[in-house]
Amino acid sequence: MKLLIPGPVTTQAAVRAALAVDLAPWDPDTLPLYTGLGTRLRAIAGGRDGTHVTLALPGCGHFVIEAAIRSLLPPGGKLLIPMSGAYGERMEHLARAAGRVPVVLPIPADAPADAAAVAAVLRADPAISHVGLVYSETGTGVVHDPLAIGAAVRACGRRLILDAVSAFGALPLDMEAQPELDAVLFTANKCLEGVPGAAFVVARAERLEAGAGRAESWSFDLADVLAHARRGGTGLARFTPPIQVLNALSVALDLFDAEGGQPARLARYQANLRVLSAGMRGLGLSLCLPEAAQGPIVLNVHAPADPAWDLQAFVAALKRRGFLVSNFYNTPRPSFRIGCIGALTPEDMRAAVAAIGATLDALGIRERAPG
Ligand SMILES: *Cc1c(COP(=O)(O)O)cnc(C)c1O
Repeated sequence: MKLLIPGPVTTQAAVRAALAVDLAPWDPDTLPLYTGLGTRLRAIAGGRDGTHVTLALPGCGHFVIEAAIRSLLPPGGKLLIPMSGAYGERMEHLARAAGRVPVVLPIPADAPADAAAVAAVLRADPAISHVGLVYSETGTGVVHDPLAIGAAVRACGRRLILDAVSAFGALPLDMEAQPELDAVLFTANKCLEGVPGAAFVVARAERLEAGAGRAESWSFDLADVLAHARRGGTGLARFTPPIQVLNALSVALDLFDAEGGQPARLARYQANLRVLSAGMRGLGLSLCLPEAAQGPIVLNVHAPADPAWDLQAFVAALKRRGFLVSNFYNTPRPSFRIGCIGALTPEDMRAAVAAIGATLDALGIRERAPG
């Protein structure tokens, strides 16, 4: 089965095999792997030794987004969120539940957030300390521009938190060139092509230290994770880390390096997207986004108008042909969603297009323009 979804992604056999090993994180034989991960991930973020630290939390991406919001904003602090889609909404929900005040900037669902609009809101409200941006909005497929938004945030003297969960490893990052960027958040199981179970932040250490004590949660207090990681000498996590997941990520990073790092990964995903986009159009389907706004992570395809269309039946029938796509949609209008990421190649995508075509034929979906 190939997972054509934006996480958890299809993984290579060597990555899954690394889960089958019993390890103790503090064992001197394991420690280099454990501490080395922080350094490797910081390098992918474009962070700098002495300025930026990598910390790990067990669990999913939402955990580390909540942790960053709690650890960087004071209780009652204001977070401006360009409302990009489903994951912008998740950030809003997490901020509100944590007792911070989300300020939502409505933006079009089919275009990147506008830096001038962000700057205008910041200038009008000096109480907003941070902007929370979703780098790749996995709901719509739009990629936003952290350099442009960051420049506006910096010019206004504020700080940036970047949800890079579906971007990290594929889209470029240069934390050293973005001093306004407090934290980049991601997990093991999207573009890094590891398995789920570990979430990470690369953060400016001084910003976490300055916020020590504000998290109102021990589990999600990144300043405490940092202090503990430094005391323990591992530099990465607190308590029992998901060590098998980290071991698998270490193998995934070896494969990432062998492929040629972030530029090569991006190139493969872009090639996957090209095959998929052309293939969907060739089948008579239409794409949700204009080409200029379409990022390389996830492709949303309009649900066909044919009365025989049923998303669950389509997903189940396609699964029988070896490909799993999402059985829900996050777009304003009904769509189906195909991930371009994971250990998949353009060749896999050609096979997926053929399987989707055969599935539509078998289900008798003839009217394929949007409903
Ligand atoms: C997947 C994703 C998340 C959440 O990650 P979970 O591991 O599902 O909690 C957050 N933001 C973005 C942009 C994502 O793609």
